[in-house]
Order: sequence, then C-alpha cells, then structure tokens
Amino acid sequence: MINKFINIVPKVELHIHLEGTIDNNIIQKMGGTIITSSNPFNIFNNNIQILCNNFYNNINILLLETFKNRLTQNIFYTQYHYSALKIMQLTTLNVQQQFDIIINCINNIKKNSIYQYIYIDFILDIPRGNAYIIYPYFKNGDYFNEIITLINNENKEYNKYIRGVGIGGRDENNTIEHYKIEFDKILKQNIPIIPHAGEFGPTHVTCNSIKIALQYSNRLGHGVRILECTDITKKPVLDISITSNLIFINDVKYTKNTHPIKDLIKKDYPITLSTDDPGLLYRLDDPQKNIDLLYEYNLLIDILGTSYSIPNKFKIITKIILNGIDNINNYTNKNNIFNFLLNIKNQKIIEVVLLYKEYINNIYISTPTHFIDSNEFNNLLIFFDCDLFVADNYFKNKYKKYKSKYETLKKET
Ligand SMILES: [Zn+2]
Repeated sequence: MINKFINIVPKVELHIHLEGTIDNNIIQKMGGTIITSSNPFNIFNNNIQILCNNFYNNINILLLETFKNRLTQNIFYTQYHYSALKIMQLTTLNVQQQFDIIINCINNIKKNSIYQYIYIDFILDIPRGNAYIIYPYFKNGDYFNEIITLINNENKEYNKYIRGVGIGGRDENNTIEHYKIEFDKILKQNIPIIPHAGEFGPTHVTCNSIKIALQYSNRLGHGVRILECTDITKKPVLDISITSNLIFINDVKYTKNTHPIKDLIKKDYPITLSTDDPGLLYRLDDPQKNIDLLYEYNLLIDILGTSYSIPNKFKIITKIILNGIDNINNYTNKNNIFNFLLNIKNQKIIEVVLLYKEYINNIYISTPTHFIDSNEFNNLLIFFDCDLFVADNYFKNKYKKYKSKYETLKKET
C-alpha cells in the first residue's frame, strides 16, 4: 500500500548530481566504454569524460534519459547539482555556452511532449578546496561573475535554470570560508547557496563545516551528521540520501540500522529525500540494479521497521514529500514555492500542487489521530492516480474529475 502511494504521489528531488546520473545504460547510448572499478569516483571520472567527448550530442542523450526517468517516478521537479567548472575544464565551454546548449536541449525535449510538466533546474557546484588550483577560469573570479551576469540577464532564460551555487567534496578540504570573497558576493546578490556539508571528516571537522555552511544557507546537502554537533541548535533543511551515506561516508560507518535518519525524524528536522548519484549507486538488496528515488523512499520505510504503525509511516513519508515541495526554492522569503510556480506560469500545475498540498496536509499532518482505512486509501489512490504530466486535454479532464472528488472528500473529513 505504501509502495503504491510512493510510486504515484507527485514528488520532487532536490539533491542529485546530473553527472552522477550517468549509468551503464546511458554510457552505452553515448557510445562510451563501461569500466568496472571498486572506486565509484573512477567510474564517475570515466563517465564525465565520455559525456564531454561529444558534449553537444551526449548532453541531449543524458537529459532525455533524465526526463524519462523523472516521468516514470512521478517526480515533477528536480534540482540537479552540476559541475560547470569540471565540464569547462574538459570541453572549454564556459558556463553560458554550456547553458545555451542545455536550455536549447530541454526546450526541445519538452516541446509538445509528455515531459512538458516536468521541471528541472541547476545548482552550480564548485569543488571544495582546490578550485583555485585546478581551474584557471575560477581563479580570476570569472566563474562567479559569469553566474551573476547570467542570472541577472532578464532577456534570457538562464535564471530559470541556474538556481544557485553549491560546494561539494570532503568537509576537511576547507569550508566555504576558503571562498569567502566569492560566496559573500553571491549572497549579496540574493543568489541561493546550497552547500554540501556534514558528510566527511572527524566530528569536529564535519561540525565546523556545517556551522560555516549555516551562515550561508538554511538548507544543506546531506548535513546528515548534524546530531554529532552538540553546539548546533539550528534545524536546517537536510537533503538526505541514505544509500549514498552508507556507501560514501567512511569516517563513520553507517548501516541501515545505524543511519541517523530515524533520529533526525524523531527530532523533527525538516528532511527531504534524494538519490545523490543514482548512476553510481546500487541497491542493497539487488546489487545489479541502480538506485532511484522510489527505492530510497522504500528503503526508509524498511528502516522505520515495525516500531512505526502504517499510518505513522504514511505521515512521515508525506511530510518528507511536502518538505521537498516547500523547499523547491527555499531561498528568500518571497522566493518560495508560489513564486516558483508563478514563474513557470502554469496555472494548472499551481492549482493541482496547492490542492494536493492542502489535501495531504489535511489528511495526514493536521489530524494526528487520523487512521487511514482502506476505503479512504482507495480514494487517495484515485486522487493521485492522475498523470499530472501527460498531454493537456487529457490532464484537464482528469483534473476536473479529481477536483470534484477532492471537494467531496473534504466535506466528509
Ligand atoms: Zn551530493
């Protein structure tokens, strides 16, 4: 029952690396060679090299596959971390040239297609610690200046796709402070910063990294080790990726049962769920298969185990899904979901998302004693079983139907 709910409920994914979504299937479509290695970073480097061997052609393949993948999982909005600097190094295309290609490609994919209600945008990541050395382009400040210019360019669509700046890599390789001048400049422009923090290093290092990241953002990539930091009282939004944590974090070795997600939920941290690098990560129960967002939600259900009742599991999952929607644009006060939705100028999506939020909020969050019976669950399935993303007319009819269904349900509850 919960599995079905997870499949069909419209979701968002806020922490996923575009380059990290390249899996063996995509490599084959790009005509590249699949390598095997026990180190996922070797595979990552191979894959990104293949992407860049023919960027124009291969980014098309990659983006089309990501749209397909979003559609099958009912993910209507995705925020990709993207390393424009690394692509720049391998292709010599600057940020603007890369986004000219990317935007053109997205527009082509979405035009008159079943993908028109799927939205994606990007956080531009820089690597911790060594950007000055590796990337000459970064050194003279051009990188950040170019991002600011692109986002402020009102005539173009860049600001629809470039949503902010991030920093990734091991916490001990310097904090954001290393790039203080650049990040302060970004902050001054009201451009959101979504840093990775709280993954690596001994406790004092990872906590220091979180502390400094919190000066720039109230949403962190991972932040999963925040409970080790006894002197941090803030509760930032945490984009959690369970499988990624189990595989990549080596300073503390998490298992399914010792992963902090249960405690974070108990302590009421606003968490969202993501896959981080689905092309590089494999399922615990089936190492032949890559993970996806549905798998991560089901893994959480598995971790919650039998100590949680089914209605409580529903509540937790629903809350995480709503946290994701609420943090689509968790940047400034005015830049919330409503602005995002207004920005995409799609009245139908606005109405449906609001309706949807109101509905699940009423049922699962505001009525803590509420128990879902099977009848109600069936209604819920009917309500969500509308393909939000398929063609216009079809959608309109369905929507009408669900709206009246919703009104009736509302009266009853
Ligand atoms: Zn990440």
